[in-house]
Amino acid sequence: MSHINLEIRDSIAHIIFDREASSANIFDAETLDQFSAIVDDLALKPALTGLIIESAKPHIFIAGADLKTLSTASKEELEVMISKGQSVFDRLEALPFTTVAAIHGACVGGGCELALACDYRVVSDAKETRIGLPETQLGILPAWGGSTRLPELLGITKALPLILGGKLLKGIVAFKKGLVDGICPQENVVSYAQTFLKKPKREPVSHILEHNPISVAVIRHKVSKDLYAKTRGHYPALLRALDVVCKGVRCSHQESLENEKNAIIELATGTVAKNLIGLFFLTERAKKLRIGDAEAKPIENVTVIGSGVMGAGIAYWLSMKGLNITLKEINDDALAKGMLTIQKLYAGSVKRRILTKAEATAGLDRIFPTTKFPKMDHCDMVIEAAVENLEIKKKIFADLSERVPADTILATNTSALPISEIGAVISHPERLVGIHFFNPVHRMKLVEVVKTPQTSEVALATAVRFTQAISKLPVVVADSPGFVVNRILMPYLVAAGELMSNGAEITQIDEAMLDFGMPMGPLRLLDEVGLDVSCHVAETLAAAFPERMAVPSILTDLVAQGHLGRKSGSGFYLYDKKTKGELVPNPAAVALQVPAEVEVNIQQHLADMMQQEAILCLKEGVASCAEDINLAMIMGTGYPPFRGGPLPANKALD
Ligand code: NAD
Repeated sequence: MSHINLEIRDSIAHIIFDREASSANIFDAETLDQFSAIVDDLALKPALTGLIIESAKPHIFIAGADLKTLSTASKEELEVMISKGQSVFDRLEALPFTTVAAIHGACVGGGCELALACDYRVVSDAKETRIGLPETQLGILPAWGGSTRLPELLGITKALPLILGGKLLKGIVAFKKGLVDGICPQENVVSYAQTFLKKPKREPVSHILEHNPISVAVIRHKVSKDLYAKTRGHYPALLRALDVVCKGVRCSHQESLENEKNAIIELATGTVAKNLIGLFFLTERAKKLRIGDAEAKPIENVTVIGSGVMGAGIAYWLSMKGLNITLKEINDDALAKGMLTIQKLYAGSVKRRILTKAEATAGLDRIFPTTKFPKMDHCDMVIEAAVENLEIKKKIFADLSERVPADTILATNTSALPISEIGAVISHPERLVGIHFFNPVHRMKLVEVVKTPQTSEVALATAVRFTQAISKLPVVVADSPGFVVNRILMPYLVAAGELMSNGAEITQIDEAMLDFGMPMGPLRLLDEVGLDVSCHVAETLAAAFPERMAVPSILTDLVAQGHLGRKSGSGFYLYDKKTKGELVPNPAAVALQVPAEVEVNIQQHLADMMQQEAILCLKEGVASCAEDINLAMIMGTGYPPFRGGPLPANKALD
């Protein structure tokens, strides 16, 4: 198959990437070979006056290397793959005429490394255009010359954050940072690139000051200290990339390429990269998930019930994504509070330049706040986010099911209540699903889509497509207490509470799990969620699984004393002004401890709690495969991505 076209017009060569039968261009072995042959061919045409590299795809320049091959290749295969890429980009750089990358769409990883091997880069200002080197996020590093050329171009101080952060930059940001040389509207990218052909080939930039041995040593020391504090040493690619870049600015180009190659071979064959690349594929799978042959219903008008923490977050997110929202509350005060939260969320997006002011105003205008149900003939979906109380939810849905058309999708955001019991009191229970968002809605990518035994294929397919359309990741789960995430998280949190009440220090427990790689210790997490809310979820699960779960008295005692966590100023920790953001254990919690010797390995014990419950979830069919549980736990709780999830895929579970 041919993935690249070469056209020569007026002594200018145009290499156009256009992968056959695909919407994306990627650099697999075949493409790399074709590109290599074209570059060699061009090197034999001295009459040429320039080269422009383009893409024929509407949204993608080049999406990067073929990760499937990369993550399964042997050391020998990697050696060949990396050497080939390095060599062809070196030959591209050495072409005797000026070369320009005309970038519109995603220009990622290997695509960005190709652009860096050109003399100049221009980008379109379109939303689809994103450029960067995300390799370290996948546990590897740019090794087709990217870790060498980016510091050569920008200097180590500007290059390191791009390589270690792995962010993809918008066109304008890339231009401001000097990663690209020009920016223009999409339709002009090629003609604008052509104007750069009048320039001579780019001369190497000298970065004498920042690349002297002392500056490099200082930068290296500071950055490695910061990286260690942030990752606790769990992400080796970051430290290896830092090493390669710091050495690279002091050695020859060829030596630096050799360092890149050695580093990627070691990293790509290790477990961390395999887990991180595996996670990348799991998220891609969730984005493309389809349910049988059922056709999803289009969703435009959504009624959100309740404008508390979750309802407000959901209304903000959906209106931002272009949906029309009716936001229903029980009284004006609660509604006003919810709208204020939504306004703040919009203001935050404008401040962080995610939205323009006009987009924020348009989003807010799409929300219709009300305390009375309007006519609901055009309501495509209802998402209920009222209080966590089964009787109230039953009442709400019984009423709703008579107000809306028979095919309106009815969804609840419940954290742990049995959805089928709601289905029992409504007409057409086949349209009832769970659409379980996580808090805060605008940050958490995961949504558990819950199917009951009655849920129809159309309702499920619609909920899944809807979740994808609003840029969230769906995981389909069965209607079982706590679904997947809360079910697995709760025994872990409860066990942390029990360890604490049996003598383990609060900070000792949280530190052990931070070392494990969790983003927050379990006791701190209980404080953030609220001890009353946690108690409530724990009670629901304890009622469902009495043989292995009970609400620990430390939780009920703290709640009884008014220590509800952060929101009340104290929980396991104190949150008053005097502690100045430092985490100080709450003496009232410590007073409830029974002093005793802690005999278990805290980290192992708590990690085992999650794994055991995950195994049960899989056996009971709450999720359909280990991968779904892993994705849900990583995206829903921050379970350490480098570990790949609580259930090692492909491992026998008995
Ligand atoms: P909340 O107490 O902040 O908000 C609930 C809101 O619903 C209140 O404003 C209340 O006035 C309103 N309400 C109550 N009855 C109503 C009715 N009949 N009609 C319309 N509005 C009504 O609660 P929350 O934290 O936003 O949780 C809402 C739901 O989402 C619960 O089922 C909860 O379990 C679930 N959930 C919560 C979280 C979380 O972290 N807070 C996460 C995921 C899911």
